[in-house]
Amino acid sequence: MLRQYELVNRVRAYDADANEEALNRAYVFSMMAHGSQKRASGDPYFSHPVEVAGILSDLKLDSDTIVTGLLHDTVEDTVATIEEIESLFGESVAALVDGVTKLSKLELQSDDKRQVENFRKLLLATSRDIRVLLVKLADRQHNMQTLRHIKSPEKRARIARETLEIFAPLAERIGMHALKDNLEDLAFAELHTDARATIVARLNFLREEAVEQDIVAQIGNELTAVLQEAGLPAMVSGREKSPYSIWRKMQQKNVEFGRLSDIMAFRIVVDSVEDCYRALGVIHNAYRCVPGRFKDYISTPKRNGYRSIHTGIIGPLRHRIEIQFRTQEMHDVAEFGVAAHWRYKQGADPIETVEYGWVKELLEILDDAADQEEFFERTRLDLYKDRVFCFTPKGELIALPQGATPVDFAYEVHSEVGDGCVSAKINGRIVPLRTKLRNGDQVEIITSQPGTPEPEWEHYVVTGKARSRIRGFVRSQRRNECIKLGTAILEKAFAARGFDFSEAILTDVLPRMDLSNIDQLYFEVGEGHRNAEAVMTILFGASDGVEADKGDDGHETEGGEQNGQSYAIPLRGLTAGVAVHYASCCHPLPGDRVVGIQTPGKGVAIHTIDCVTLESFYDMPERWVDVSWDLPSAEKHVHVGRLRLNVENQRGTLAELAAGVANNEGNIINLKITNRDPDLFEMALDIEVRDTRHLNEIIAALRGLSVVSTVERADA
Ligand code: MN
Repeated sequence: MLRQYELVNRVRAYDADANEEALNRAYVFSMMAHGSQKRASGDPYFSHPVEVAGILSDLKLDSDTIVTGLLHDTVEDTVATIEEIESLFGESVAALVDGVTKLSKLELQSDDKRQVENFRKLLLATSRDIRVLLVKLADRQHNMQTLRHIKSPEKRARIARETLEIFAPLAERIGMHALKDNLEDLAFAELHTDARATIVARLNFLREEAVEQDIVAQIGNELTAVLQEAGLPAMVSGREKSPYSIWRKMQQKNVEFGRLSDIMAFRIVVDSVEDCYRALGVIHNAYRCVPGRFKDYISTPKRNGYRSIHTGIIGPLRHRIEIQFRTQEMHDVAEFGVAAHWRYKQGADPIETVEYGWVKELLEILDDAADQEEFFERTRLDLYKDRVFCFTPKGELIALPQGATPVDFAYEVHSEVGDGCVSAKINGRIVPLRTKLRNGDQVEIITSQPGTPEPEWEHYVVTGKARSRIRGFVRSQRRNECIKLGTAILEKAFAARGFDFSEAILTDVLPRMDLSNIDQLYFEVGEGHRNAEAVMTILFGASDGVEADKGDDGHETEGGEQNGQSYAIPLRGLTAGVAVHYASCCHPLPGDRVVGIQTPGKGVAIHTIDCVTLESFYDMPERWVDVSWDLPSAEKHVHVGRLRLNVENQRGTLAELAAGVANNEGNIINLKITNRDPDLFEMALDIEVRDTRHLNEIIAALRGLSVVSTVERADA
């Protein structure tokens, strides 16, 4: 176990400004807090945080991180509290310790591949400060180094798998290849003990052989000489691949390994980026290169900040070898990732660190997080800022885009859960369905089955899955309505011709209408794309009634249905074949100024321009249709106008009314008493007329009758 002064010396060796006093205090605090606790190995528990701090000092991290390494298990495993740590070590350390503690509490609930990936992302997203993750990785490395002391083989295997699937990829994601290799190899030893032993034995043999024949050194010397000749001083070194990476390659490619190129890679470290390319040119000039092996991660760095040029050549001694070209800084970053950036940031050469994409940004953010609020928002790892991660009550992790709601969550779980969603609880509390989810929320969806989606959900869901499902439902619902309506329209059309409705007859003529199924016919009629009268004409031939109308200008318009009888609608401005009807609120007549309102599933309703109903469509201009009367055509038809009257409640009133209408060439087709007072009847009168002027003549005539108190056109 590292002694207190040893640890402090190690930190001071790379960081002259290290907070020695805090390191000492943390060492003692942790030792006291863990007291007589023991590890599975029988060692005092305190040895663990000290080793973790040691690993962090190998990464040359700042004193706050080292202090956090010492304290990382005190809050979870001892009586120490975050408040205590804050008062003793300050806000920054307290936040780090808190972060590590929280991270330890997140548990992967299933081995499902997708879950594993999501869990990794969750760890990244919840590590607000990258140093939290570094401490967690160091913690994991030490736990893996001491894994053999755990007695239960199942537990060992679980920890090793978790390391392989969660933590090693995390280390790689933040560019820490050395740590990644280390974690992988430790897990590999646990999970595939024999395979690893075999590979290590083979590696040793090949290495000895290579050393005996001096192959590695010869290759290295020749490469160095070739570069030297070109005026390029370079550090050339051979690197042995890790047993785990060899094993994985063997698994993937199903091959055995035997050649040097399978176990060794060479590295050429030069002074500058330009020299990387120059060295590449020199090597490619001197040796034959292996096609398909060239990769330029300098011009296009990997997402984790990795930069190098890779190539493969048939090199010295005709050995096929891989070479990486890089600068010293690139090398450090490749080995230590974020930790190296950290170091460069603190160290002598800050300007050189300016080119590392998100890693660099991250460090800047850590540096200039001035106020607390901003710190909280901005130091969150940028990588997954566009995702939120939530749990089901069973602990399954669901990843969603930022801004997602419980409805999105429900659809992500299962489309039936989405459809049946009626309300939701977040962390045990009922919330509105439009609530935006946050990282770590536990979401419980309350359903009623079988359920149907609410059209209004479409306004706030953000996932494509939810949106397409809701839209699909609304569309199919509308389709069903149209089919129902179309069926009813056709039933009436049959009846108007005096026939019984017959689906069989309709089915017979489908091919003549280019339709393949009867529902499509109902749908098109219901939607107004197809004219019921036209269908009747195909079935029974042209009618001699008033119904079918082919307007003079070629417009084919369908009769509106009023009181069981159809009336042609002679209008201009309508799309051919669209279903049209007079609005029953205002009963427009030829001569009235009119406008059409599109009604889904019902075609176009014609209103008078001053109809009060129009108010409700003011904010839907897309539904307004400009129409005008086709007057010559209109004259050929009768139309229906509606009047409202107050008449005296006495014998003979109705007779006088009827006579008044008839004398003016009108025809009463419907009469409805809407209110009865002792003295007055209030009634609505539907009258067949030619046009507005005709109706006005009738109104004038009725006003002249003594039994009529008031009379006016109905406007709603
Ligand atoms: Mn620990």
